[in-house]
Amino acid sequence: MKQTFAALWRPGKGVYVREIEPNLYLFQFYHELDIKRVLEGSPWSSNRKALIISRMKEGDVPRNISLNKLELWVQVYDLRVGFMSERVPKEIGNYIGSFVESCSKNFTGTWWEYLRVRVSIDVTQPLKRKMKIRQSGAEWFWINFKYENVRTLCFICGIMGHSEKFGSRLFEMAIYEITKPYGAWMRAPLRHKIHHIGSKWLREGEEVGDRNTAASEGVGKSTAA
Ligand SMILES: [Zn+2]
Repeated sequence: MKQTFAALWRPGKGVYVREIEPNLYLFQFYHELDIKRVLEGSPWSSNRKALIISRMKEGDVPRNISLNKLELWVQVYDLRVGFMSERVPKEIGNYIGSFVESCSKNFTGTWWEYLRVRVSIDVTQPLKRKMKIRQSGAEWFWINFKYENVRTLCFICGIMGHSEKFGSRLFEMAIYEITKPYGAWMRAPLRHKIHHIGSKWLREGEEVGDRNTAASEGVGKSTAA
C-alpha cells in the first residue's frame, strides 16, 4: 500500500506513512505542493479500493476524523445550449454532492461533449445517475452523469467500494427481485490521446491534450470501507 501510493504520488519532498490501525493511515508530507497535488488528484486507489483522504488540521486526532467524503470529477452529458454558464456546474455539483470547482476548460470556447465538475460526495450514499432540469418556462429534460476513475461500483445499490456480488443488499433480496439500476455506463470513459495520420493538419482545441492527461493520470477508486 505504501509503495503503491508513493509510486503514484512521487512527492517531491517525500512522504512518511504510518498505519494507525488496520485500514487507517496517516500520511505526512513535507511540502505544501505535495499535499495539494495529492488532494487535487483524488480519487486514488490501491487494489481497486479508493483512498478516502482528509486533510488534518492542527490538533486533530486521526482516529476521530470522519472519512466519508470523496472528491471526484463528474462528466455531465446531454446539457442543452442555454445552460453554458458557470452557474450551471455549480448547481449540478450541489445536486450530486457538494460543488468543489468547475473544470477550467468548460467554457473556453472549445466544444466539449460534456461539462466537468468536481464534487465532494458522501461515499455512503448511492451515486446520482441523472438530473431533470429546465429553463424557466421551457420543457424539462434529463442530464446524465459519468464519474471519472470510479473503479468499484455496486450496480444494485449504486454505492462505491463493493461490487454487487458482495453487497449486503444482495442477500436481503429474492433472486427475482434483484434489479440493477446502476451500471458500468456511470464510469466515465478513459480518455486517451489519439494520433491519426492526418493529425498534423487538423486543429484541435488547444486544451484537448491537457484535459486528456488530467483524466488518464488519476487512478480508480471506491470506498475504503
Ligand atoms: Zn450494493
